[in-house]
Amino acid sequence: MSSLRLLFLAALAVSATAQNRTTEAGEASIDDPVAECVPYNYPPVTASKTSFPPIWSPATTIVAGDSAAMATFSAMSSSIPNIAPRGTLMGNFSNVSYPATDPDCWWTWDQCTTPKISGLANDTATVPEPRTLGFGFDDGPNCSHNAFYDYLTSQNQKATMFYIGSNVMDWPLEAQRAIVDGHQICVHTWSHHYMTSFTNEGAFAELYYTLQAIKLVTGVTPTCWRPPYGDVDDRIRYIAKQLNLSTIVWKENSEDWEFGSVAGVTNQTVYDNYAYLVSNLSAGTFNTAGTIMLTHELNNYTMQTAIDNYPKLRAAFDALVPIAVALNITHPYAETNYTMPTFQQYVSNASASASASSASAAAASQTPGSRNGGTSSQQPQVTVGLFMFALTMLASASAVLA
Ligand SMILES: [Zn+2]
Repeated sequence: MSSLRLLFLAALAVSATAQNRTTEAGEASIDDPVAECVPYNYPPVTASKTSFPPIWSPATTIVAGDSAAMATFSAMSSSIPNIAPRGTLMGNFSNVSYPATDPDCWWTWDQCTTPKISGLANDTATVPEPRTLGFGFDDGPNCSHNAFYDYLTSQNQKATMFYIGSNVMDWPLEAQRAIVDGHQICVHTWSHHYMTSFTNEGAFAELYYTLQAIKLVTGVTPTCWRPPYGDVDDRIRYIAKQLNLSTIVWKENSEDWEFGSVAGVTNQTVYDNYAYLVSNLSAGTFNTAGTIMLTHELNNYTMQTAIDNYPKLRAAFDALVPIAVALNITHPYAETNYTMPTFQQYVSNASASASASSASAAAASQTPGSRNGGTSSQQPQVTVGLFMFALTMLASASAVLA
């Protein structure tokens, strides 16, 4: 067989793999992290991009001409607490003078979770069930998360995923996987900057467009959010509340995201943090109420670290559950056709065999983002795209030969 013929077959094989990148199931079946992170076209996102702020740019204003967003913002704007934005998008607060009395319940100042303004709920930083870990991961959907999500599924483990709007737009099929796998999705802002630095309109846009992106891609509208870096105060809490978002922070910190980027945080640091959590559990720290630890879907290191430490957590804690489950929130989205189990239901299910309970969980959940999702009208465009991709591969093969 000629080299050209072999290259032709190789190109066809690659295009066959690429054909799987039009559905959640196809994307979820890719096991090469590099291949997972090759961008793909998802028509509903492509068609809607002009209705969103630029991906990965701070959403400082409502998109021009977005009358629905403007109406929603206008309805709340006059009642937003009169607290000035502070610091920079990147969290430089060196020029900020702030009273020691912490009048705005600014988490970044002193981890305040009890708002000073009446009518705002306390942040969720712990969970009520004893010896329980509210299990969740920030910054996804990560394009190379298949091995991590496969692992969670193999353990019949659900979690709360705090998704960044820009990541949802970049990796929509990965976002759908969270729903299909039974995880809970919460908002983690559009561009992942310090929220107290935004104007009212900017803070609104960071949350609003992330909600819109998640709805567009998965069909559900979250009711929870986590501020990047924990940076929230009563002004931001109020804006979130008007968007039906409860604020979730954390009590324990794995520091996994700091490995490789913050001096002094080593692999040992991260593993010590996990060990410290378990030793506190053994010491009785969580005998009356459980806790929440900050961990990430940020990169392959943080995901692998989560996998490596999972058996220790599972063996030590009485329960590892999504935060909605820990709070007995059975309807985690604005849409009422999706349910999550109560804490008791989840715990009984988790004690059954992984395969049996996984099947029943899948059957019990009516999920908008099903593995068979996607409309037939998308198919022609996708097919053309793949045909072009195959042609490109053949052209590359010819170029190599030439
Ligand atoms: Zn984050």
